[in-house]
Amino acid sequence: MHFAKNKMKTIQLHDKIFEPYIDRDKIARAVSNVAKQIEAYAGDTPVVFVVVLKGSFIFAADLAKVYNKDAIFEFYRLKSYEGTGSTGEVKILVDLDAKQIKDKKVVVLEDIVDTGNTLEKIIQELQAKQPADLKIASLFYKPKAYTKSYEIDFVGMEIPNEFIVGYGLDYDELGRNLPEIYKLKNEKKNEKMIDFILFGPPGAGKGTQAKILKDKLGLTYIATGDMFRHHIKNETPLGKKAKAYIQKGDLVPDEITIDMIKEIISDPDIKGIIFDGFPRTVRQAEFLDKLMAEKDLIIDALIALEVPEERLIKRLLERGKTSGRSDDNEETIKHRLHLYHAKTEPVKDYYQKQGKYHQVNGVGSIEEVNQRLLDVISNIKLREKAQ
Ligand code: AMP
Repeated sequence: MHFAKNKMKTIQLHDKIFEPYIDRDKIARAVSNVAKQIEAYAGDTPVVFVVVLKGSFIFAADLAKVYNKDAIFEFYRLKSYEGTGSTGEVKILVDLDAKQIKDKKVVVLEDIVDTGNTLEKIIQELQAKQPADLKIASLFYKPKAYTKSYEIDFVGMEIPNEFIVGYGLDYDELGRNLPEIYKLKNEKKNEKMIDFILFGPPGAGKGTQAKILKDKLGLTYIATGDMFRHHIKNETPLGKKAKAYIQKGDLVPDEITIDMIKEIISDPDIKGIIFDGFPRTVRQAEFLDKLMAEKDLIIDALIALEVPEERLIKRLLERGKTSGRSDDNEETIKHRLHLYHAKTEPVKDYYQKQGKYHQVNGVGSIEEVNQRLLDVISNIKLREKAQ
């Protein structure tokens, strides 16, 4: 495929059309912005830059030219993307020499942080090599796509949840040598998909399934539990208020939760939303309906994942071994399940009365359950179109 390197116009890579998005000047400013932040952090110690290949090669080269302190460059190659959606799977193709990391001040250079799957893998692998300190720098950061809670220490530029190529970033290996950033042209941008609540008790698999559906259907994912954990980790005022409730397995009071969710649906271009962990009380459901109506939106469905209680407890105890969540222990799990029945389950009736309740068997492999959810979603869409 041919493209004019100096003219910003629509281009085609493989089967997809991309349009100009971020020009060279803006990129250069973002790069020097990152370089300055790292210089301030480095002090008098040389940092070891871990360049994450392939995507970061241009970013790292340009950053190297404007970074005015001592630095060492190491290269790490990972692969995570297939096509335009994250597969969630990350493989190491070229590993790092542990000697170059141990006891050093390490800064990871990422081109983009999207879901955070790659980043999580990098952080886990690098921590095992015992750096003196580990920081993350990313030229681009998509806060709306990010599902993890690691802090991105040095950000060049925040961008909306668009699929971008150029300046090192690719679509199936093409587009890396474009000097500007292009974004996928989305003809269906304003076509609404579906706004729904993925419902179920703790351990039903809401988070796992929502993340897959979000990637497959291009939806925005809102998980109040993740949002609270993020606030707690960053010790924000909201995090401080919520912490004690969450540790005990109690619900965070409605006022706090509602306040947090208010800002969230402000982007007019979102295709649809998956709510996970919200609403958890009828009062929250009433509030959500009102909030959606103010934005000219409506909840299309509540889809409940059904899983027997013994299995839920088993899953949560299993998750507790690795999740690091203080609420995944036996006593708190029982309390959370009790609260689910007492406070959250009535939300089902609330949406049943509106004819929006759907039930899905949550027992089976991740893929099986996902297929059941996709079937229900496409039925809802078909029904809406017929109306
Ligand atoms: P989750 O990650 O959905 O299991 O949520 C973890 C914890 O966060 C819950 O046990 C509650 O303490 C709190 N939480 C999450 N979402 C809500 C909500 N909508 N209302 C009240 N508390 C919530």
